[in-house]
Amino acid sequence: MRLVLVLGDQLSADLSALQKADQENDLVVMAEVVAEASYVPHHPKKIAFTFMAMRKFAQSLRDAGWRVAYTALDDPENTGSITGELIRYAAQNDAAGVVYTEPGEWRLIQELADMPLRSHVLPDTRFIASHSDFENWAEGRKQLRMEYFYREMRRKTGLLMDGDKPEGGKWNYDHDNRKPAPDQVDFDGPLRFSPDNAVMDLVAERFSDNFGDLQPFWFAIDSDQANAQLDHWIDAGLPKFGDFQDAMLQDQPFLYHSLISFYLNAGLLDPLDVCQRVEAAYHAGKAPLNAVEGFIRQIIGWREYMRGIYFLEGPAYTARNGLGHERALPDMYWGAPTRMNCVAQAVKQTKEHAYAHHIQRLMVTGNFALLAGIDPAAVHKWYLAVYADAYEWVEAPNVIGMSQFADDGIIASKPYISSGNYIHKMSNYCGSCAYRVQDKTGEKACPFNLLYWHFLDRHRDRFSGNPRMGNMYRVWDRMDAEKRTTVLTEAEAWLTKLDQGDAV
Ligand SMILES: Cc1cc2nc3c(=O)[nH]c(=O)nc-3n(C[C@H](O)[C@H](O)[C@H](O)COP(=O)(O)OP(=O)(O)OC[C@H]3O[C@@H](n4cnc5c(N)ncnc54)[C@H](O)[C@@H]3O)c2cc1C
Ligand code: SF4
Repeated sequence: MRLVLVLGDQLSADLSALQKADQENDLVVMAEVVAEASYVPHHPKKIAFTFMAMRKFAQSLRDAGWRVAYTALDDPENTGSITGELIRYAAQNDAAGVVYTEPGEWRLIQELADMPLRSHVLPDTRFIASHSDFENWAEGRKQLRMEYFYREMRRKTGLLMDGDKPEGGKWNYDHDNRKPAPDQVDFDGPLRFSPDNAVMDLVAERFSDNFGDLQPFWFAIDSDQANAQLDHWIDAGLPKFGDFQDAMLQDQPFLYHSLISFYLNAGLLDPLDVCQRVEAAYHAGKAPLNAVEGFIRQIIGWREYMRGIYFLEGPAYTARNGLGHERALPDMYWGAPTRMNCVAQAVKQTKEHAYAHHIQRLMVTGNFALLAGIDPAAVHKWYLAVYADAYEWVEAPNVIGMSQFADDGIIASKPYISSGNYIHKMSNYCGSCAYRVQDKTGEKACPFNLLYWHFLDRHRDRFSGNPRMGNMYRVWDRMDAEKRTTVLTEAEAWLTKLDQGDAV
């Protein structure tokens, strides 16, 4: 007999390791271990979600006839690591070896490879592009732009294709998906499910020092519930998803977003099935093309592309720091007071829900970290810890590449930076802020306005030749010299206060 390892983000009945295993003889191993629960200080909701979903999945395997060895976190014999548990169960059962599906993180891939047990590693087939698909696509290209990869994925899956042409004549309807915040949201957010109380008690006892609220817990914890959430959103959220995809509203954390990334990444939902159901809603006339194309692009485009980059670039990717940013992560990211309402809003809902939507991650917390020159490794660890959907294969390229431009432009052709204007246009945050978004200098000047020019000025050598940024430098250069000096002096003073730990 062999052991069959199922990790906490591999909760799919069609996992390659389960497909290859022998139900009669093999023993499935699942383990809640302190090493995985604490290599970053994960949000308590993320830990609770993972353990609850693991326990339910283990039960569903038993119901289907599998033998499952499940180690709970507080099991006295728990060795504390995945490899420790495999070695322990192998000795107890005289196992001939271990079958497992490749993990989504270099750290664990290496740990398992170093384990003194005979192993059979299988590819993770729950993605649309295999490693070799991505490598073949990337081969010989000067730039790895997501848009071209996405078109290949459209052709490969047949999603939104009209023969060999894109549905509606265009590949990408992003242009229609940038409406500012609506006055009211007529979607009541995700379905709310009941937690497993034993796990709630365990996480409350063991992880209460971690940043984040455990209560109220509302996540789906099995695939039936996750599918119910998807159906609910397709009916009520999808039609306006595209229009308001980039919008942000005070005290409205969810808007028209699907809230399925946790379920997709843990294996409770299948990405292709999700996209096919969303496409069916379009063909049934229930949702417009801009919403459906925009959503499908996020999944078969961005999600697959990020994974491709993570595996293509190798384990050193997370240590990249192309812009030489060294500032410590300010305490406001862990909930310390800040006068910047946009940052306070994004952090508050992150603390409450282990969730923030894409534009909050990219254009508020990410944008601020980039403008302020924060060490990308610290930013990466923060995102990995605080979001329930954060696994390194998807989080690291989004943070190191897309958000912090620390990979020197593998993912983004220019840094995602903006002054306060963008946040003002896309949200209603500025109206309740202690700073004034209209002020470019002065006591109440929006810090994003000051830091935007500070960033461009300090990275002039790196970016002034970038064709997509020439305009920004022309505006800066046309500014009165005295005003430029004032902006830079005030930005420096503001950063000094930030470094001193003042509530800026
Ligand atoms: C700095 C930063 C860090 C991020 N970290 C993560 C992360 O750790 N895990 C994660 O799953 N996503 C991450 N994202 C992408 C995106 O923010 C989340 O996938 C999304 O907010 C999840 O919420 P949702 O399910 O409501 O998504 P929706 O807005 O409804 O989008 C639908 C789905 O598209 C996929 N998707 C959308 N954008 C991306 C993207 N850029 N990369 C990969 N998948 C995408 C997700 O699976 C998501 O569920 C990050 C983005 C940024 C800018
Ligand atoms: S004024 Fe500036 S800091 Fe305040 S909410 Fe607007 S963008 Fe954020």
